[in-house]
Amino acid sequence: MTKVSSKGTKLTPESIRKEMKKFFKNAMESKIIDAVMLPMQVPSKDSYAWILIKDISLLDDMNPIAPIMPINAANALKKYTRKGKGKFKIAVLMRPCEIRATIELIKLKQIEPEDVILISYDCVGALPMQDYIADPENYEKKFDIILAENNWNSEDLKPVCSICDKFSLSASDVHFGLKDDGIIILSNSEKGEKLLSVNKNEDKKDDKIWAEKIDKIKIEKVKNRQNSFKEIKKMTDGFTNLQDTFAHCIGCHNCGTVCPICYCRQCYFDSSVSKPNSDVKLIRAENKGALAFPLDRLMFHIGRMSHMSLSCVSCGLCSDACPVDIPVANIFSYMANETQKTFEYSAGESVGDALPMRDYKLDELGELGKLVKSAEAGESENE
Ligand code: SF4
Ligand code: SF4
Repeated sequence: MTKVSSKGTKLTPESIRKEMKKFFKNAMESKIIDAVMLPMQVPSKDSYAWILIKDISLLDDMNPIAPIMPINAANALKKYTRKGKGKFKIAVLMRPCEIRATIELIKLKQIEPEDVILISYDCVGALPMQDYIADPENYEKKFDIILAENNWNSEDLKPVCSICDKFSLSASDVHFGLKDDGIIILSNSEKGEKLLSVNKNEDKKDDKIWAEKIDKIKIEKVKNRQNSFKEIKKMTDGFTNLQDTFAHCIGCHNCGTVCPICYCRQCYFDSSVSKPNSDVKLIRAENKGALAFPLDRLMFHIGRMSHMSLSCVSCGLCSDACPVDIPVANIFSYMANETQKTFEYSAGESVGDALPMRDYKLDELGELGKLVKSAEAGESENE
């Protein structure tokens, strides 16, 4: 079902935010939800935090479309639901990449979705954290101009945003589609349908205009994506290129810390097991001729790629957190694209899509059994 909440006047960043807040206010007043999780600028005005609010009057202080992503909202939701289902129904507004991360984390049993309503919006992109922190006032204004002009290809945005072709309707329960002259609100599930019952006015014509706009941008973004991947392929093809690309990595592991998909509570690369004593290091130096510090930088990235490229949602947090400007997000997006293509899987599309390498069908196990048997038969012939 599709509903339109406002139309007829040109949308401005202010009117978009106002409409969204009105929507949440209606939903809270009608008791369909008890609380809402939204971004709010921190008191020092140089970053944002995710705030869970039960008091409707606090909605005025929120900024539903924040210019930056200090964390992936899926991580905030993960922390909220860590101990399982609570007694309140909450709605969380997220960018589509954050919705996709949430879907992956639901599959990985890191988020309990039962009493959570996921709400997304057409995302124009986000600003790099470092730029914003250097001059928040100026970048607040810049972001609003980008939003007003729907300038998704702006060079001021994070590089990974211009290659994101999944910037619109995702696996959320409700989606805010941004047309030039109004917001179109779509329900995408039973939960969403219920939430939308507090907003009326249906108009199918608006659907079509909005869908055409999204398709047009998607075509351009797919082109950007292909071009970026060609460049990244050159940087990562083969061991030597990969080594050169990560040559100035300082081994801080920030990229893994902020990644919503890198969810292990104890990372092998930060554990004592991965830190051998000096004798072992000397043996390694002797075997290789020399040993570079920080240790195992490339191993860390390759390990991370193999662990989570099936679920990488191209949110760009890793690039934001890298102090030496390695385009980690574009590299991981490229790797993720290759891995997900191989397994005919798309991260975060639907909770119902089984995660490859994690869920097996019975007949796949049968296939595996046959492979083991034939390998065993081959071994005994060779004996
Ligand atoms: S690897 Fe980077 S882009 Fe991919 S999900 Fe993690 S933080 Fe986001
Ligand atoms: S954030 Fe950058 S410097 Fe730190 S480990 Fe990742 S790639 Fe290396």
